[in-house]
This record gives sequence, C-alpha cells and structure tokens, in this order.
Amino acid sequence: MQQPRAKDLVGINEMYPEIEMIGLTFPVTKDDEHNIADYRDSKYPVDRMIAAAARTCYQTIGKGEQKDYDLIRSILIKHAHLSVLEHAQVVIRIRGCSRAFTHQLVRHRHTAYSQESQRYCDEGNFGYIIPLSVKAAGLEGWFTNALEQARDNYLTLQKLLRDAGSGKANEDARFLLPNAVASEIVIGVNFTELRHMFMKRLSSHAQWEIRTVFKMILEEMVKHSCCFDDIYQYQQMHGNLNGFTMVF
Ligand SMILES: Cc1cc2nc3c(=O)[nH]c(=O)nc-3n(C[C@H](O)[C@H](O)[C@H](O)COP(=O)(O)OP(=O)(O)OC[C@H]3O[C@@H](n4cnc5c(N)ncnc54)[C@H](O)[C@@H]3O)c2cc1C
Repeated sequence: MQQPRAKDLVGINEMYPEIEMIGLTFPVTKDDEHNIADYRDSKYPVDRMIAAAARTCYQTIGKGEQKDYDLIRSILIKHAHLSVLEHAQVVIRIRGCSRAFTHQLVRHRHTAYSQESQRYCDEGNFGYIIPLSVKAAGLEGWFTNALEQARDNYLTLQKLLRDAGSGKANEDARFLLPNAVASEIVIGVNFTELRHMFMKRLSSHAQWEIRTVFKMILEEMVKHSCCFDDIYQYQQMHGNLNGFTMVF
C-alpha cells in the first residue's frame, strides 16, 4: 500500500507496515582471478559472493566442485559456519511502524540504523498504528481520540516553546508524543545477524508488530538469496520459529 511520507501528512493518519529493500551486496568477479564457472550456478548474485568467500576457506576456488547453493546450505548453514554470511549485507527501509516497534528493533546491536528524527521533523501531523486488539475490542474511536489529544498537546507545547523563543520546539514537544506514532527507519544488516534477528522476532513470544515486519522481511529475503530458505520453510510450516534448529 502506497502511503504518504511523514512530511506530506495532514492531521493524523492510520498507517500500515511497508518494507523496501534499498541495498544488497553484489559480487565483483574478475575473470583472470577466478574461474567464472564457479559462480554461474547461483541463482542469486549475493549468494555467488558468499560462495566465493567460502571457497577461500576450503581452497576450492576455480575447482567448481560444489554448486553455490549446496555449499551455502550443506556446509555454511548446516554446520553453522555463519561468519561467511557476514560478508553479505542488506539495507531495508521500514515505514508505517510505531515508535514502540522501532525501539525494539534498535536493541539489535550489530545493525546500522537511520531513523526519521523527531528533533528535526515537525510531528504536528503524524501517522499512527492501531493495535489489532484495540480494533477487535471496538476501541478504535477511543484510541484515535486519545491520539488527537496528544497531537493537540504537542502543537500547544510546540507553539508555547516557539513563543518563548526556544530553538528546541520540535525537540522538546516530542516528549508528549505516544508510542503509536509512526516512524521510518532504515536498517543495514549482515545475513548472519539477520538470521539471528529472525530467530528472535519470529518466535511466538515476540511482539505482534515486530513479528509482522520480520515476516515481510523474510518473504523479501528469500527472493534474493538461499541463505534464509531453511528459516522460511520452517516459518511456513509452523507459523513461527519456536524450536527451529537451523538445519535443513
Ligand atoms: C520476546 C522478547 C522479549 C523481550 N523483552 C524485553 C524486556 O522486557 N526488556 C528488555 O530490556 N529487553 C527485552 N527484549 C530485548 C532483548 O533483551 C534483546 O535486547 C534483543 O532481543 C536483542 O537481541 P540480542 O541481545 O540477542 O542481540 P543482538 O544485539 O542482535 O546481538 C546478537 C548476538 O550477539 C551477541 N552479542 C551482542 N552484543 C554482545 C555483547 N555486548 N556481549 C556479548 N554478546 C553480545 C549475543 O550473542 C547476541 O545474542 C526482548 C526480546 C524478545 C525477543
């Protein structure tokens, strides 16, 4: 669903999660250094790069003994030789998620983040996320009224601070914003850490919003690499990653 960007919002607007892959590691191959035949069997360019790195460990560059796909699945992932997957990096933009979500997300420490700034940006109009439980209980009207009140309070404090000559009107008025306010964040993460994040965030114990987003990320990742096939298959079969053991 195409949604307005934060700066284009008018009033308060319900938003839904969206993810967009904006970067992915791409291999560089030199014909005079490597036997290109080694790399041809990979469906996905990023997997060619991972397999090329792995072949350094086993000194099988140019020997073409094993297909990239088999190498990644049957050696790297099955035996948890996961440091090789750290060479691959993906960059994903996440929109239409709450600050409650992003606060959980940024607890992962091996990931790079760039988040919409509430210091810099005016939040006088904001997107928001409604929990399904609120909708199911018929409390949507009550919930949005509470958000309208928060917005009024934000705008009032912002104006009072400006009138008082403060240069920190957005920065300090944001203290009145709720966790439901939508945010936009870009993450840059390597495949090893992303596998770890799936494990944590696709467990049935994880919170619903972060589970929703990580399901979307997983569905996107399997279109670009075989490094998540085992996780995807398990998730499809069980609906979560409880008890997942990382073996195909
Ligand atoms: C269901 C659920 C409930 C949660 N509830 C709470 C809560 O109530 N309160 C709360 O504060 N947090 C909570 N969290 C967040 C949780 O504690 C972690 O901060 C979060 O899941 C990030 O994962 P991680 O620590 O495994 O690591 P990442 O930062 O993703 O790191 C990956 C791995 O690297 C290693 N690592 C990273 N940094 C270090 C380090 N400094 N030293 C040693 N090893 C390191 C660890 O093995 C770690 O597992 C919850 C998470 C989940 C999934």
